[in-house]
Amino acid sequence: MNFARCAMFAGCLVLQLPLQLAAVAPRTGPGPKVAPRIVVQPVPSLPSQASSAPVSAKPQQAYTLPPDKLAKAIALGRIRNIIGLVSALWGLAVLWLLLATRAAAGLEAWTQRICRQLWLQGLIFFAAFLVITSLADLPLDIYAHHVSRSYGISVEGWASWLFDMGKGLGLSILFGPPILLLFNWIVRHWPRRYWLGAWAVTLPLMVLSVFIAPLFEPMFNQYEPLAKNHPALVAELETVVARTGTDIPPDRMFLMKASEKTNGLNAYVSGLGATKRIVVWDTTAGRIPDDEVLFIFGHESGHYVLHHIPKGLAVAAVGLFFVYWACAGFAAWVARHFGVRWRLDGQHGSQIHGQESGIAPLSTRAGFVVLLFVLSVAGFVLAPIDNTLSRYFEHQADVYGQEAIHGLVPDPQKTAVAAFNALGQAWLEDPNPSPFIEFWTYSHPSTQTRANFASHYDPWANGGHGEFFDK
Ligand SMILES: [Zn+2]
Repeated sequence: MNFARCAMFAGCLVLQLPLQLAAVAPRTGPGPKVAPRIVVQPVPSLPSQASSAPVSAKPQQAYTLPPDKLAKAIALGRIRNIIGLVSALWGLAVLWLLLATRAAAGLEAWTQRICRQLWLQGLIFFAAFLVITSLADLPLDIYAHHVSRSYGISVEGWASWLFDMGKGLGLSILFGPPILLLFNWIVRHWPRRYWLGAWAVTLPLMVLSVFIAPLFEPMFNQYEPLAKNHPALVAELETVVARTGTDIPPDRMFLMKASEKTNGLNAYVSGLGATKRIVVWDTTAGRIPDDEVLFIFGHESGHYVLHHIPKGLAVAAVGLFFVYWACAGFAAWVARHFGVRWRLDGQHGSQIHGQESGIAPLSTRAGFVVLLFVLSVAGFVLAPIDNTLSRYFEHQADVYGQEAIHGLVPDPQKTAVAAFNALGQAWLEDPNPSPFIEFWTYSHPSTQTRANFASHYDPWANGGHGEFFDK
């Protein structure tokens, strides 16, 4: 589950949360990742001149890269697209293979042999399932990390990286099996209307995950009070806090030591209520001008002030109702056609009853894998809808961010454009991605789109005011 951490750049997904959490899809483990896992960790040598990146005056090219970085960004963009696609398809293939080879049924039978308690069988089954799917993903993860390192984005050594992966898997095994067991239990008890019950428990779980996410962040990175080494930046951030009305006191502003692992830039807000905090990477604070950090912070604040998390959850609530309903139908079809062949009746190794036995095939542990498969297919197919909504929220946050720093920095347009150039350079973002790829896979508008908008956005030009602020 990717927590709803809006990284300005690296993968904020208010909306992708639902499907991933709901399915506790095997492709994701609970636990904050340093960055989204499929995305090859973006980025670069962030020399001090990055912020003074060439900002073209041409209307359509507010985001530009020097020739050497441009070539790298294009090549890397291609690799990222391929990794993303292969990763998604491979995830589906692994689930299918677990079913078709009867490995899932075999695993279920094995858990029945080694212990008697149903709940314990379930926990063991799902823990093993998470380990198997994580191992299946490992080669691609290794390749992605290799690419990230070779492009100078990640600077994390292999030992540290493997340790992080291990910790991620550990969290996955700690939280995943009980959650999957709960859903599995719902399917067993309400074989006809289980999707409704699953829907009802999905939303509270999503809210909880956003709330507790910050508690696990220190497992992966070191944090210190931002005021410790950047008191001036804290004072400036407080002016944005005051203008935006966000309730984030200095003791909830942190510096994350990202530089041990990446050259990427980022700042984000995470948590809810008592756990809400702002985090600025140490690759960002002090390395790009404070004004640009303020803009990034303004963007993040926008997600909170404009209630993007509750809105995302509300949209997810409505959307998931239909998605779960449709998936239940699709899963029933799959079970009807393949249930006997895949031994979904929980009778692996003994007499095969199939559906005639009265055991609903989806109620078994192996049958539950069918539901995960179907949900993963739905996630893949519905990604453009999900991403389109996410891009809309991100655009709103960009507008908000630019308005939030109005009056606090000399030129909000220039600051925003410079920030996008710094981010784009740091993560080696392709300045001209394919519109189709952007539509299908981008959770944020492309850097070019964002920079172009920022360069033109000036509602104060003739004495006017912005969308979200009176002045
Ligand atoms: Zn965002």
